[in-house]
Amino acid sequence: MTVIERPPGTDPAVSSEPERDASASPLISARDLSKIYHLGGEDLAALDHVSLDIADGDFVAIMGPSGSGKSTMMNMIGALDVPTSGELRIDGRDIGRLSVDELADLRNRTIGFVFQQFNLLPRTSALKQVMLPLLYANPRPENGEEMARRRLAQVGLDNRSGHTPRQLSGGQQQRVAIARAIVNNPKILLADEPTGALDTKTSEEIMQLFADLNREGITVIIVTHEPEIALWAGRRITFRDGRIVDDVRQKPIEKPIGTPAGQEARP
Ligand code: ADP
Ligand code: MG
Repeated sequence: MTVIERPPGTDPAVSSEPERDASASPLISARDLSKIYHLGGEDLAALDHVSLDIADGDFVAIMGPSGSGKSTMMNMIGALDVPTSGELRIDGRDIGRLSVDELADLRNRTIGFVFQQFNLLPRTSALKQVMLPLLYANPRPENGEEMARRRLAQVGLDNRSGHTPRQLSGGQQQRVAIARAIVNNPKILLADEPTGALDTKTSEEIMQLFADLNREGITVIIVTHEPEIALWAGRRITFRDGRIVDDVRQKPIEKPIGTPAGQEARP
């Protein structure tokens, strides 16, 4: 099992719940998870009794047609939303039993998010965007700027720290979003269609970055429509009508770290 080194002050253990043996349970565990939306007198099951375990260190691709519940599942795992019924444990904590503050704390410490449209602030520099989650960290780290600069360097943007989104390409904006998502050393990185707004070559570069982060020990879960993108993951889960209809392990694409995407040897 992967042990992630964490800087002092980012210990994910939360005091309100007893500490659990992390090796005894999966990082993410859903049991009979349902999410019902009430629309004009009708009940719609966005998630319909989903059970699923995701291990620490996994790299998962979630696929399935539009409306099949992929984003709803991601929002649950990301503690952005709570289930209608069933149980969801994230890093040993039952999210249905957490207070609003505890949910916010779980999101801040344990989870990083990346979205299709990057979700950056339009007039804020790359460095300030990446520092933003640290303002909500408790305790707030003293070396926040250094942490943010290190993450920007990790995504290859150390020379773009003063740039605002409109001075950056789509791929560069997504790199800023990824640096922002990992600045708090999360255990889990969630990305909902992260390459949906990017061309093929840029998409490959972004996937290489996810693969590198996963190799460092972060559990990565991405939603994608594209089979080529799903090939980067070690496990592919397919949703349909709010249920899991397929769940397979696969040998992920492997490229040596540091090889620029598009320049690797092809058969
Ligand atoms: P996907 O990401 O696979 O396209 P979603 O998880 O976004 O699917 O949606 C699953 C189903 O739940 C869809 O039928 C969608 O219309 C419905 N849904 C999602 N969010 C809401 C909401 N906030 N209110 C009502 N219905 C919703
Ligand atoms: Mg979606």
